[in-house]
Amino acid sequence: RTGARVERLPLARFTTLGVGGEAEVWSVASAAQLAEAMEQPYRVLGGGSNLVIADEGVPERVIRLAGPLAERDLTPDPGLSSADEIVTGWVGGGVPLPGLIRQLQKLGLSNLEGTVGIPAQVGGAVWMNAGTRYGEMFDGLHTIEIATPQGTVQVTPADLAWGYRDSGIPRNHVVTRVRLKLRRSTPEDVLAKMDFADQARKGQPKMKTPGCAFKNPGGVSAGRLIDEAGLKGTRIGNALIAPEHANFIVNLGGATAADVHALLDVIRGRVAVPLELEYELWP
Ligand code: FAD
Repeated sequence: RTGARVERLPLARFTTLGVGGEAEVWSVASAAQLAEAMEQPYRVLGGGSNLVIADEGVPERVIRLAGPLAERDLTPDPGLSSADEIVTGWVGGGVPLPGLIRQLQKLGLSNLEGTVGIPAQVGGAVWMNAGTRYGEMFDGLHTIEIATPQGTVQVTPADLAWGYRDSGIPRNHVVTRVRLKLRRSTPEDVLAKMDFADQARKGQPKMKTPGCAFKNPGGVSAGRLIDEAGLKGTRIGNALIAPEHANFIVNLGGATAADVHALLDVIRGRVAVPLELEYELWP
């Protein structure tokens, strides 16, 4: 009715791990299309960089933000910007974060460079306040627009109970777009900070992966525990515990979700400390 594009598609192509069966994918390009998509049970897909999706796919609609909801307007708002700080126009939740971070660097705009290297979309990164020890999404947010089953609201960070890797936004409320709050700096300065934050990724594998598998239990490195259990390089099917970093499972090509789950089970069985999963599992 509203013109949303609806297709049955394999979800693997929308994830950084490259695993996942089919679902009905709703590509929504307006608030009306999103509202229609939200009328039936749904899941929201961002950059697919924290997901292990079942080989059977998922029964719910899978919503992707497209069109204007994946576009950005970085023009400083004259009424809200000062000599030191700017507030941008709207940045869609479907905008890929890495490209945005590069663009902000070129413009000499600071606050979000600590999130360099996170292959998320803006909406997914805001939803879980993604970040590193060098900075997180909530360092650079002015306004957040959220579509809820009751309608759309615009809030500021002060309205949310946000914290470490948590925006306080309920699951399945959709971050449709945000306005960024950025500090005026220089391209050189922002680049230097970005390079510094990027150093921490040197040891991470370059292959298809959904990032870290497990949270660090009580400040101990999960990667180190898995390494000490002698599991680096363990392979099941086409999924592998990365030799570079034991907390990363990579897809060698053609891996299945079942392969990945089997490796996760091996790790849980061999590491004495209970490990909490970092990924989100669909379903
Ligand atoms: P998805 O993986 O698509 O979805 C994750 C969750 O977000 C789902 O519940 C989904 O429904 C929800 N979601 C997605 N979009 C929206 C939206 N618009 N509105 C509401 N909810 C939404 N994370 C870090 O925090 N720090 C890191 O340093 C880091 N490094 C990584 C490195 C690599 C190589 C990889 C593959 C991942 C890394 N991650 C890191 C994990 C991942 O990038 C983050 O968890 C990120 O926030 C996931 O965002 P996404 O858009 O990919 O969401």
